[in-house]
Amino acid sequence: MSENKDAYTIKHNRPDCIGCAACEAVAPDFWEMKDDSKSSIKGGNCLENGQEEKGIEEKDLQINKDAADSCPVNVIHIVKADGEQII
Ligand code: SF4
Repeated sequence: MSENKDAYTIKHNRPDCIGCAACEAVAPDFWEMKDDSKSSIKGGNCLENGQEEKGIEEKDLQINKDAADSCPVNVIHIVKADGEQII
């Protein structure tokens, strides 16, 4: 049985990011600060509305949940493959 590689999707409402860098501090393998003083999802897809998305595996859920918990303006969300919003 092969594991579902993208069990979750992390979503970043980048336009509303205030650039506090907490997500990068918590999960530097997934989040990085950019020159415009907002963070980005490493290797994420940029949507036309400025949002970002990236599929992640089950093993990467907790660290990204921690990053989302650390965000003071709640612009990081995680959605399960079945559509259920985790955070
Ligand atoms: S923790 Fe939230 S506000 Fe801070 S840089 Fe990351 S996404 Fe932006």
